[in-house]
Amino acid sequence: MGSEHHFFVEADNIDQEQVVITGDDVAHITKSLRLESGDQLSVADGEGNKYLVEIVETKPELVITEIKEELEIKVEPELEVTILQGLPKSKKMDLIVQKCTELGVAKIIPLETARSVVKLKPKKAQRRCQRWQKIAEEAAKQSGRAKIPQIGELRDFSQAQTLIEEYELVFLAWEEEEAVTLQNALKGLSFPQKILIIIGPEGGFSAQEVAQAKRWGAKVVSLGPRILRTETAAIATLSMLLYAGGDLGGRA
Ligand code: SAH
Repeated sequence: MGSEHHFFVEADNIDQEQVVITGDDVAHITKSLRLESGDQLSVADGEGNKYLVEIVETKPELVITEIKEELEIKVEPELEVTILQGLPKSKKMDLIVQKCTELGVAKIIPLETARSVVKLKPKKAQRRCQRWQKIAEEAAKQSGRAKIPQIGELRDFSQAQTLIEEYELVFLAWEEEEAVTLQNALKGLSFPQKILIIIGPEGGFSAQEVAQAKRWGAKVVSLGPRILRTETAAIATLSMLLYAGGDLGGRA
């Protein structure tokens, strides 16, 4: 049981029996949604705890609610999937962030590769990451997640090595891979917790990037015979992985 209105609050705004909502959400709750004492909404602390609360008092700067019920956290996938995403052009990253948030991604890290045409200077990269973090937060609210996916700092391919070594399982999607399919790579897997998916930009990966990733421990996999756009590849790979891991309807 939840409520169609879902908000994230700082963990320290939550104590045993009450949750205080502050910031922009106050106007949204009191003005646009016109909620008042007695109305219910759900709040999450972004660390995996979710509560059904009831408004007890509204003030111009805050909404005081009391906890009615701790909601079962069935909203987060068991698999913690991170996407290392070749920097795509224009708004494609906005779409990837929004859709993968709804689907259950844990983290998205933008990746500069040999063929990614967009080159971001540090200041601009920081601004873009802040924008993507906002999109992730909005999509996490809309989809009722208990956690907000994290947008990592822009990495270049040489920095991918340390990342790849951090994960129990790493897939690099390569359209020229003929032997190993995603399904073969998943066969007989006792599902690890942390998985990294590496998706190339519009121009794809260079052969040496693929060879390097293999050396660092990534499994290079095919996503089938058609060439998917980078945003399609990210969304489809995440969906197939989460489904295989029992999420997204993958388990009764
Ligand atoms: N070089 C490609 C374009 C890259 S598609 C071309 O010839 O047009 C963008 C990214 O999506 C790729 O780098 C890869 O990570 C992924 N991708 C797309 N189709 C794929 C497929 N059939 N198998 C594996 N990965 C794929």
